[in-house]
This record gives sequence, structure tokens and C-alpha cells, in this order.
Amino acid sequence: MTISDEAKEQVAQVLKLGDTAVDATMGNGWDTLFLAERVGSEGAVFAFDVQRSALTATEKRLRKVGLLGNCELLLRGHEEMQAVVPAGVGAIMFNLGYLPYADREIVTRPDTTLKALQAAISLLRVGGILSVICYRGHPGGQEEAKEVLHWGRSQGAAFCVQSPDELPSGESPFLLTLQRIKE
Ligand code: SAM
Repeated sequence: MTISDEAKEQVAQVLKLGDTAVDATMGNGWDTLFLAERVGSEGAVFAFDVQRSALTATEKRLRKVGLLGNCELLLRGHEEMQAVVPAGVGAIMFNLGYLPYADREIVTRPDTTLKALQAAISLLRVGGILSVICYRGHPGGQEEAKEVLHWGRSQGAAFCVQSPDELPSGESPFLLTLQRIKE
């Protein structure tokens, strides 16, 4: 099972038909598609990316399977999600790093990532889940992963946190999840 499958499996246990979900790093739209399938036609998906090519690829992918209608694709940084997404979200997914086969200079960065993560947990409904895959093989990835892990493990009793206890050695990606267990 890949780390992406692991994230999806955890999200699938929580996300219900009719829920609102967020893909905070749209890229080629694989997570947007997954979320759109899970929430169904009664639900809504907000997807963010700062690259126009990500929106184009995702729009094409969703249109092909008739799921574009309940998705809002935004050419906007995820750090602005609170301005767009209503509270009560069932799942929010982040895949940090760069988009494969695209410009590797366009990567997620610690300051905006942490701002977005903080916004994300404020939007989660009770029972809702945040998943973050931290990729570390690119310049800045290790530092970002360290900050994200520290942030995640510092969240209070309102969240059930699953992550490595400390930064694993090496450059393999790891998964952090936070599930809101109370207001
Ligand atoms: N989940 C994607 C998929 O299924 O293809 C892969 C995501 S890729 C690892 C990371 C993405 O984050 C890139 O597409 C990049 O453009 C995007 N990104 C970088 N900074 C961002 C920001 N501030 N807000 C939203 N997306 C951002």
C-alpha cells in the first residue's frame, strides 16, 4: 500500500456522502477526484493550487467522469482557504512538495503550509479528518516536514493525532493525520 493509499483509507473511514471536503494541494487532481467520489453529488469539494496547469488537469479529469459539478477549483493558495470554505468540513487532504513532471521550484513552503494547516483544523467538523503527506526529497522538504510534524504533535486534546513520534531518519515521506474529536 502506498502512503497515498494509506491517507485515502483513513479519509474514507470518516468522509460521508453529502460532506464538504478540501484538496489543499490539487496538483493533477487525483485526491480531488477521490474526494468528489466519496462526497457524491450532494457534497462539495474545494480544491486549491497556485498553478494554472493543476486546474486545467484537474478540470479535465473531473469532467471526464461527470464530477466537475460539485467541485470548486481555485487558483489560490491554500493559506486562504478560510476565506472560501465554510466550516463543518469532513476531510482535508494535503500532499506537500512539488508536482511531479512540473516546475520543481513551485513547492509548498513552511510559512504558508502552517498557516493553511491552522485554518484547516479550524474548519473541521467533529469527527472530521486532516491528512498531510510530507515529502522530503526536495530542497526545503525536510525543514517543512519537521515544522509540520512539530505543529501536528502540539495540537491539543480536541484532536486525535497519528504520526511518527519524531522526524524519521532519511527522506521517505510520512503521513500525519489529525481527527477532531471535540469542539
Ligand atoms: N495531490 C496532488 C495530485 O493528486 O496530483 C499532488 C500535489 S503536489 C505534491 C503539491 C502541489 O501543491 C503542487 O501542485 C503545487 O503547485 C501546490 N502548491 C504549492 N504551494 C501551494 C499553495 N500555497 N497553495 C496551494 N497549493 C500549493
